[in-house]
Parts: sequence; C-alpha cells; structure tokens
Amino acid sequence: MDRLAIVVPCYNEEEVLKIASKALREVLEDLVQKGKIAEDSFILFVNDGSKDRTWELIEEEHREHPVQVCGVKLAGNVGHQFALTAGLLTAKDMSDVTISIDADLQDDVAVIEEMIDKFHAGNDIVYGVRRERKTDTFFKRVTAQAFYKLMALMGVKTIYNHADFRLMSRRAVEQFSQYGEVNLFLRGMMPLIGYQTDCVYYDRKERVAGESKYPLKKMLALAFNGISSFSVKPISMILGMGLFIIVCSILAAVYALISYFTGHVVPGWTSLILSIWFLGGLQLLAIGLVGQYIGKIYIEVKHRPRYNIEKILK
Ligand code: UDP
Ligand code: MG
Repeated sequence: MDRLAIVVPCYNEEEVLKIASKALREVLEDLVQKGKIAEDSFILFVNDGSKDRTWELIEEEHREHPVQVCGVKLAGNVGHQFALTAGLLTAKDMSDVTISIDADLQDDVAVIEEMIDKFHAGNDIVYGVRRERKTDTFFKRVTAQAFYKLMALMGVKTIYNHADFRLMSRRAVEQFSQYGEVNLFLRGMMPLIGYQTDCVYYDRKERVAGESKYPLKKMLALAFNGISSFSVKPISMILGMGLFIIVCSILAAVYALISYFTGHVVPGWTSLILSIWFLGGLQLLAIGLVGQYIGKIYIEVKHRPRYNIEKILK
C-alpha cells in the first residue's frame, strides 16, 4: 500500500490551519478505509516563517494526531515556492506519493481521491486544473490568463490553469530534486520531468478564512520569475530587433542616396538620421549578441539534468 504525504505550505494561516487539518485528515481516513492508501499516510504542514500562531497550532495538531499530522518549521519566510519545495523534499523520503495543496482549501480536496486513482493507473504526476475562475475577481482572472498566454508565447511549457495543486510520485519528486536551480518556478519545472501525466478538474473555491498571501506585487514577481527562469526569448527579441533596425536603415540609406542624387533633400538631414538609426540598430544587435552568451551561461549555471531516463530494456 502506498504511503501518501499531503504537503501544505503555510504562511500566517492561523485562521485556517485547524480547518485545513480536519478536512485533510477526513480525506486521509476515507482513503485509508477504501484501501487506496497506507494507514500511516500523513499531512506535512510546512511553516514558512509565520509571524502568527501557525506553528503552535501545527504542534498542537501533531500532539493530538501524531501519525496523521507532521510539521516542518522553516527558520524564516522563504516564500510559497521554496516552502513547497522544502515540504516535497522532506516528504520524499517518508512517502511513496505526495500531493501539494494550499492551506486555504481553495483547491477542492474532493478530487484527491481521483488523483490517487490516476496515480494507481500509472501516472507519475497528476495536475489539478481549475475548470473555471468563477470565484476569482475579474482582475485576477484577466491577469492570470494573460500570464499563461505570455508564458506560452515565451516558449515556457506550463499546464493551463494549473497552480501548485498536484500529485507527484516518489520518483517524480526524486527527479525534481535533481533540479538545483534557485530561481524556482515549480509550474514550469514539472513538465520538464516527463513521465506519464494526467489532469483532474475542479472548481476553485473562495478562501475558507484569512486573506490572500499573494498580493499583486508577489504575483508579478512570480510571473517575471517564471519567464526569466525559463526563457531566454527576451534576449533573442533584442537581437531580432537590432537586426530589423539595421536592415531598415540600410533600405532607408538606399532611398536617401537616390533622393540625394535626384536632388530633393535638406542638406545634412539624411546623414544624421541614417547614422542615428544605423548606430542604434548596431548597438541593439551588439547587446543582443552579448545577451545570447549571457543567456547560455544562465542556462548552464542552472545545472539542470539533461534528461531523465524512465526505463532501460536489456
Ligand atoms: N504561502 C507560503 N509562503 C508565503 C506566501 C504564501 O507558504 O510567503 C502559502 C500560503 O499559506 C498558502 C499558499 O502559499 O497555503 C497560497 O497562498 P494564498 O492562498 O495566499 O495565495 P492565493 O490563493 O491568493 O493566490
Ligand atoms: Mg489561496
């Protein structure tokens, strides 16, 4: 029987912690009864340097339910992506399969069973995908959609409308642990792991209590991190633009020379404008070219695994 670890990053979640713990424990009990997971499956709360009583509550829950509730206390606030990674890597050695979910229960715990079924059907990663964004504000919906579109445009593979509610088998987490990069954007990294994957669909609910720990500033930072950690396209764009401007200025030079010899120009203007454009283009081209090397260095220093062998027949 597979031991399940539900990993829950928590930052200042004192209002929701007990509610989340109870809801998740019920899910565990139900799955254990149905014989789908091992009896010693557990919830792993990761306290991400909370300033409120979150950790005390986690300790209390652990005292009351020593098998079902475990906790990790990070020494300070490192942010959702790092907290989640800490949880996953801690859970890796204690479990056969992990599910990550937010503490606020916005993601539907009812689809956990479906995730487990899909895991048993041979999937190593099961993505929780939001069906609609009814409960999100208009603003959040539009910005989030723009974000996924932009990521696709930049050539970053992500699962549309999937946040960090997902199941990962032990070997998927193990492979993930090979990614040593510090600029974490988990949603972009998971598709790199490969293996057989599937999705489950659910409606995202309102927060049970408390308020969002992801203000616009953090959302923008996450989006920028997502693009800059996965794509060197912006650099190629600079290079492309430099080339384009140079070609334009050469065409314009031909035109200006023709006008010059046919004699309808103000003296001095042609040479001035052309040198501005040509030099501008040349500079962009040079920056873009240097950027290409920096982009390569950036990709190299990530030391990402180059491939992941799933099976060898011999
Ligand atoms: N979170 C965290 N560290 C942070 C910010 C958030 O561990 O610095 C956790 C938070 O406790 C929650 C999850 O990340 O479990 C998602 O945060 P939230 O629900 O506030 O984001 P939203 O759903 O509003 O995007
Ligand atoms: Mg939330």
